[in-house]
Order: sequence, then structure tokens, then C-alpha cells
Amino acid sequence: MAKSTSKPIATSKPSKLAKPAAENDSPEKKVSPEQGEELKEVKTTAKATPNKTKSESSEEKIEVTIEKKLVALYSLQQVDSQVDKIRIIRGELPLEVQDLEDEIAGLETRIDNFIQETVALEKSITDKKNAIRDALVLIKKYEDQQMNVRNNREYDSLTKEIEYQNLEIQLSEKRIKEYQGALELKSEEIERHQKLLQDRKNDLDIKRNELDDIVAETEKEESDLIHASEENRKFIEERLLTAYTRIRKNARNGLAVVQIERDACGGCFNKIPPQHQLDIRMHKKIIVCEYCGRILVDDGIVNIIH
Ligand SMILES: [Zn+2]
Repeated sequence: MAKSTSKPIATSKPSKLAKPAAENDSPEKKVSPEQGEELKEVKTTAKATPNKTKSESSEEKIEVTIEKKLVALYSLQQVDSQVDKIRIIRGELPLEVQDLEDEIAGLETRIDNFIQETVALEKSITDKKNAIRDALVLIKKYEDQQMNVRNNREYDSLTKEIEYQNLEIQLSEKRIKEYQGALELKSEEIERHQKLLQDRKNDLDIKRNELDDIVAETEKEESDLIHASEENRKFIEERLLTAYTRIRKNARNGLAVVQIERDACGGCFNKIPPQHQLDIRMHKKIIVCEYCGRILVDDGIVNIIH
């Protein structure tokens, strides 16, 4: 039987434990429940393109051993975790940039409002100054009229008018002082907000540059990783990929494939029974943790990759 020369791309060395596919051909074999769960299919043909296959094999489909699938799954997990890491690093920055942009827009609106309030206050001051000027004109007029009154009653009436206008002037002066006080506060607020605005604009420049740098730096790495991820996926059948994606989505840290660590699942840290561990080391079935459902691999699979 032709041995497939195609292998998951993360594997640089030939598989130490590679076995002819026929040895894995036992689809009827079922695991007993105490042995833990097993992802049913044992032998399948993957959709890998046999671009590395030499003339010795003209088959269009390559039989992928369970071991190769495990290697591909573990490689896929490594690559996908790297992509996750890049996205986490980048993930915070666009949000920070967005927050700064929002804050800047808010500050600009507030400054605009302060400026409008300033204009209104200045208009009020002008109005009051005009009122004072009008009152002074009236007082002058009433004083002139007092020179030509015919009786005391007319004189007293004009005196009252003059007093009233003087009160108006005092009131206007009081208001002008209040408006000027408010104006000072407003210009202080404007100054304070403009300083804050400048600081935030500087922060935004820094964050934007940082983001641009990270995007430029990681774009190539990310697309390489995504390419590697796609290459690994070719060795894994659809059903298994769907399971992988589902487990990854539900699992913390996006880990769907984990190593046995100190006789325990590297994902949930529950102990794995010895018989179950033995099955995992055989590389003949895809075995998932009976507690968390993650796909389990042993050092053997990890060493093939590293
Ligand atoms: Zn687990």
C-alpha cells in the first residue's frame, strides 16, 4: 500500500510513530464508557491535495492516519492560539482609539457650548451698558425739565423718575458685574477644556501610531498564521473541524486541543484514568476529556511537532 508522504505542515520531522493506515482501520471498535469518550470516526479520507505526493501515488485522496490528524489538530490549535494572541494585543487598541475620539468629540462640543454662553454673556453686558446710557440720557432730560417746572408736584414727579433711573443704573451695574464674573469662569473653563483637549489629541496621536505599527507588524504574521491554519485544516475532516471549532468557542482561552499534564487534562485539570491515558498514547483514536470535552494529546504528538 502506498504510504502517504503528505503531512501536516507544522511537522518538520517525519512522524516517528507513523503507522500504515490499515492498522487504524477498525471503525467497528467501540470504546467502553469507562474509557472515556471518543470522537467516533477512526479512519477517514481527508480532502488534502496531494501536492507533495510523488509519482509513487496517483491517488486523489490521501488516507490520513489518526496520528496525523492528531498532529494536525495540535498544530492547528497552536497556530489558532497565536492568531488569538495577536488579536488580543490589537483588540484593546482600536477600542482605546475609539474612546479617545469620543472623548475629544465630547470636549469639542463642550468648548463650543462655553463659547456660545460667552457670546450670550457679552451680549447681556452690552445690553446693560446700553440701558445705563439710556438711563443717563433720561436723567439728563428730567434734570433739564426740572428747570422749567410750573409747580412742586411736577418737580417731585421728575425727581421720582430720576431716582427710578438711578436705581435702574445700579441694577444694571450689578448685573454687569455678575455677567463679568460668569464670563471669567467660562473663559477659565474654556482654557481648562482646551488644555484637556490638547492632551487627549496627543494621546490619540500616540495610540493611533501604536495601532498602525501593530497592524503593520502583525498583518504579515497573522496572514501567515491563517494560511498555516488553513493548511492544517486540510488534514482534518469536516466533522472533526466542526467539533474543534465548537469546543474552541466554548472553551476558556480558546483551547480545544490540550496536552496531558501530570496525568490530568491540560484544559480542566481533571485526572485522566490510566487506561484512558494509554488509549491517548496509542494515537489510534481521537479521545476527548470526559469532563470538559477537549481533545487530548500526549507528549508523543507534541514532540512530533516540536
Ligand atoms: Zn478536561
